[in-house]
Amino acid sequence: MIYDFYYIFFKDFINYNKLFNFSAEEIFIILKVIIHNFRLTMNLSKKKKRNIIKIIKNRIKKKYIIEQLYGNKCHICGEFDTKIHLRTFDFSHFNSKKKKIDASSLFDTKSCSEIVKTLKDEVGAYICSNCHSVFDMEYLELINEIYDDKELIEKIKTDYHKIKMKFTAISDKMINNVKDPLKKTINITGNYKNYLFAIYYLSNQGIDITKKSIANYLGVDYDAVKSFFLRHRNFLEKYINFPYGNPTIYSLKIKGLKLISEIEYFINFYQTFQLEECINCNFNVRKKCIANSSNQCSHPIIKN
Ligand SMILES: [Zn+2]
Repeated sequence: MIYDFYYIFFKDFINYNKLFNFSAEEIFIILKVIIHNFRLTMNLSKKKKRNIIKIIKNRIKKKYIIEQLYGNKCHICGEFDTKIHLRTFDFSHFNSKKKKIDASSLFDTKSCSEIVKTLKDEVGAYICSNCHSVFDMEYLELINEIYDDKELIEKIKTDYHKIKMKFTAISDKMINNVKDPLKKTINITGNYKNYLFAIYYLSNQGIDITKKSIANYLGVDYDAVKSFFLRHRNFLEKYINFPYGNPTIYSLKIKGLKLISEIEYFINFYQTFQLEECINCNFNVRKKCIANSSNQCSHPIIKN
């Protein structure tokens, strides 16, 4: 099995059944929260955190693309599914000699719809690595010389032709289903989560939610809150009511409450995520952040 550090730890988020009910901005906020609350990533540098978020987003893109194009199983063997075996899915060129690009190189910079357009031109399909290894067998022409066993030769040839028959390259029609659920429409900066939680906390305490009370709660200047509300009003208005008044007294909308409850769910999930020590290493995972250490455990076992 191909080892994928990121998929192992973040598969619960990648596979979250309500994931695409969130906007791209909300997914980004929740991912940031996860990285800041998960023991293995919380102490990493900003750069590493950003990089991990990008990698998780790439996994989400890959899963989304495969499911939109082919459903959740390998369309050839039907054995491997995208939820448990995402990391075994490869983009396989129909003719590997005509390969111009490596599919995985597209994910960092392109959106889902751009990726599938490029892959359509490459002529190929996402299939599981088992099917891929049979289909990409370079020595098929030499098979009679490699093996003596006639039955085995026949079996290999039959497997190869079965895959070739079922192999469905990405087509124009298929890519119509692929949208861009991770493409942000506004640039998210600043700490949105802290603002939403401040408002949530104040309303729970029965305190009037004003710029002043938010500033007190967050321990920042009134002007900082004022400027945040000015710069991000379009975004905040989705979650918070902005009634007229002096001072303006804000309140959370249902959508804001829902987002906070999802954020709380993932904070709790990743703060209590149980890991066991790797059988191959003596690193004490309870006391240190293993991902931040040079002798980090490379084979963690997940308890649940
Ligand atoms: Zn397969």
